[in-house]
Amino acid sequence: MISQERIKEILESYGGEITIGTIASHSALQILHGARQEGFDTLLITTKDREKLYRNFNVANFTLFVENFKDILSSEVQDELIERNCVLIPHGSFVEYIGPKNILDKLEVPCFGNRLVLEWESDRRKEREWLTSSGLKMPREVKPDEIDGPVIVKFFGAKGGRDFFLASSEEEYWDKIRGREKEPHVIQEYVVGTRFYLHYFYSPLNDEIEFTGSDIRYESNVDGLTRIPDWEKYFSPTYVVTGNIPVILRESLLPEVFEMGERVVKKSKELFYPGMIGPFCLETVCTDGLEFYVFEISARIVAGTSLYVWGSPYTWVKYNEPMSTGRRIALEIKRGLETNRESELIW
Ligand code: AMP
Repeated sequence: MISQERIKEILESYGGEITIGTIASHSALQILHGARQEGFDTLLITTKDREKLYRNFNVANFTLFVENFKDILSSEVQDELIERNCVLIPHGSFVEYIGPKNILDKLEVPCFGNRLVLEWESDRRKEREWLTSSGLKMPREVKPDEIDGPVIVKFFGAKGGRDFFLASSEEEYWDKIRGREKEPHVIQEYVVGTRFYLHYFYSPLNDEIEFTGSDIRYESNVDGLTRIPDWEKYFSPTYVVTGNIPVILRESLLPEVFEMGERVVKKSKELFYPGMIGPFCLETVCTDGLEFYVFEISARIVAGTSLYVWGSPYTWVKYNEPMSTGRRIALEIKRGLETNRESELIW
């Protein structure tokens, strides 16, 4: 694992001049746009086929081409990024393309946020330990002979929820899993309600949680199935995210939303010091009893925040100016530089 001392050394060599960079996917438009708003130079790491799109949006001061995103790990690319004083902003695709272990062990380029979170978030068991020990409710996990209602069966590492299936009895479970019983998976109670993907930002500089917005992921094909009568005769649901829809919560739910974010951050400090830094998302279902069940945490910027490049209803109230999550990250780095505390944010 790359030590914080090594990252700090590289960060110090930047002399307070930082270029904000990320890879061309996920929420890169928002991240680079927000960095520019805060006065940073920006760098885009891209493959040839994606460059045209990002050039069209004019978000990058520098463009660095790679054949494959994993090439970021090569010493030539890392040297060039460090040469350009780059701080990388990890997003969901960044972690998927490069791999959590590679980021921990091989990436020397300073990144915004605490890398140790990758160990807790990429392993479903550790993630459950973190969330439940924070006092958050999660959907119950059951053994096959305990299935007593609808369950969702998730294979570990399923990409975009493509590899899930539903069952409502032990018999149905065995029928559907036949041949794959040995593959690691969990059987989870299916929670019915409103899905809220809650966006937070934790500022270590202010020691404050901000609730920055929420979205509902539009998932295909499941979100299209209700348009078809008797759909279960013809289709099995998949949960591949294809887009995001804005949503606002009943205001009376907000105290609990804040509380959940605070608990997760507090626990993270105990589990992997210094804990969460910057944006994260609790993926929840709110039932008709107004109870939140959290089924996952994303410990970085989520794509749903790109709905709010112009700011969300909440950030508008707090900041009175457009404050996207991308911009909020850049603002935190800027404040870190102004107070010589940037190394508390960049790991
Ligand atoms: P995940 O990969 O755990 O984020 O799940 C992908 C999608 O499956 C979610 O966005 C939800 O739509 C759905 N989902 C996952 N777990 C549950 C659950 N326990 N109850 C209801 N829906 C779920």
